[in-house]
Amino acid sequence: MATWDETEIGEETCDECGAVYSVSIKQFPLRDKDRFVCSCGNVLKEWNSTTCYFYERVS
Ligand SMILES: [Zn+2]
Repeated sequence: MATWDETEIGEETCDECGAVYSVSIKQFPLRDKDRFVCSCGNVLKEWNSTTCYFYERVS
């Protein structure tokens, strides 16, 4: 089973509501077009690449 390394790149805070997210990136073999939207509706990240972003709320 293939696995891809997940790398934690730090924390990001939403400008709109102040929510703090722990951000990780992961490399995928295929290009991915996606985005992450905060629970308040603010778009924190958009990407169109083989690097995908994962946001986990910490506060
Ligand atoms: Zn927010």
